[in-house]
Amino acid sequence: MSKQHYDYLVLGLGGAGSAALYHLARRGLNVGGLDRFPIAHDRGSSHGHTRLIRESYFEHPSYVPLVQRAFELWEQLSVDHGRDVYYQTGIIEAGPDDGELVAGVLASAAKHGLDVEQFTSQQAAQRWPQFAFAPEHSVVYEQRAGFLLVEQCVSAHVELAQWAGAETFCNQTIKSIESATDVVRVMTEQGEFTADRVIVTLGSWVGDLIPELSEQLTVLRKPLHWFRADESLYSRKSGCPSFLFETESGHYYGFPASDWRGLKVARHTGGDVVDNPLTVNRELDREERDDVQRFLKKHLPGVTDASTDHTVCMYTMSPDGHFIIDRCEDDPRIVYAAGLSGHGFKFTAALGEVLADLVTGSKSSYDLSFFSRNRLGN
Ligand SMILES: Cc1cc2nc3c(=O)[nH]c(=O)nc-3n(C[C@H](O)[C@H](O)[C@H](O)COP(=O)(O)OP(=O)(O)OC[C@H]3O[C@@H](n4cnc5c(N)ncnc54)[C@H](O)[C@@H]3O)c2cc1C
Repeated sequence: MSKQHYDYLVLGLGGAGSAALYHLARRGLNVGGLDRFPIAHDRGSSHGHTRLIRESYFEHPSYVPLVQRAFELWEQLSVDHGRDVYYQTGIIEAGPDDGELVAGVLASAAKHGLDVEQFTSQQAAQRWPQFAFAPEHSVVYEQRAGFLLVEQCVSAHVELAQWAGAETFCNQTIKSIESATDVVRVMTEQGEFTADRVIVTLGSWVGDLIPELSEQLTVLRKPLHWFRADESLYSRKSGCPSFLFETESGHYYGFPASDWRGLKVARHTGGDVVDNPLTVNRELDREERDDVQRFLKKHLPGVTDASTDHTVCMYTMSPDGHFIIDRCEDDPRIVYAAGLSGHGFKFTAALGEVLADLVTGSKSSYDLSFFSRNRLGN
């Protein structure tokens, strides 16, 4: 069995882990990273071509400083890696005035002085005739929003980290994380690694290896669907924005067409509980597809029924839908980001920086108390 030591180890090189690896490596630190699958794989939560990024955060105003830092870091990543990972499209967000979406966007905008345009449904229909809005809905528009190319973000972080000296090991299935007196020991099916300090970013599997999280997290199956759509109306190049709707049937979101697959759409709310993320059902479920098609018929009536692709991904939900970023109670040398709850990717560039600060003992520029594990009780 091989045995290797690093000053820092990052366990799990998906969205959050790839960014943490990058931030440690670019500080010139001795860092290794482990994952069970190849970089930018499609078995966890960071695949499916695109992820929304938006600033006026309806989920809670506390996220805004973090996403603002993420915007800067994604732009920097594009420059450093030499290919764009972020595309600005703007986003329209529609829903009832007394719902959580529009009110949440406006609350974050008010608190942080952000630029958000407000429309009645009639005004919005004039500006975006390819969308149909319920008469009783209000619409807000965030120009700064857009999407990230999810797999490219992960691989760019890892490649730049490797360039800065990080060593990565794929096909390493982590079996345990043990606290010894002088090191943290990580046993994999293939060997043994030790480190002075460890960042854990294991996505849907984190509860298996960090006992204090095992009762806190629920994994949900989340399908994504693509449909052929008239490019003159529904493509990024034609100026079609990304979208998020709060409807009576749930929250639905999507992206303008940007490749041969056409427009991508998914339901944000709901989802079946997954007992074993390794064996999640990846087959197309026709009822789920019918559900998003009903949404499209109502709100994006020009999108066709021609399904071009689908994939299945997973949300790892915390009890309150907010991230958990903390140190292990039993061993402060181990820090983690967990329970990104289906909205974490946009933040991962900044989360990597936060985790690097936490694990090296540097002071974070953010108030992380909102994300502490203790807020959830035992
Ligand atoms: C369908 C869908 C749509 C989404 N849309 C958005 C969006 O529009 N905007 C947004 O911001 N967020 C979105 N999210 C959420 C976001 O993608 C996730 O929050 C984020 O990708 C989670 O990153 P992670 O690093 O926690 O997990 P992952 O990226 O899954 O990384 C975990 C890594 O740990 C590895 N690992 C786990 N266990 C082991 C082990 N035992 N040994 C070795 N390696 C292991 C895995 O192989 C994996 O690579 C969406 C998620 C889904 C599923």
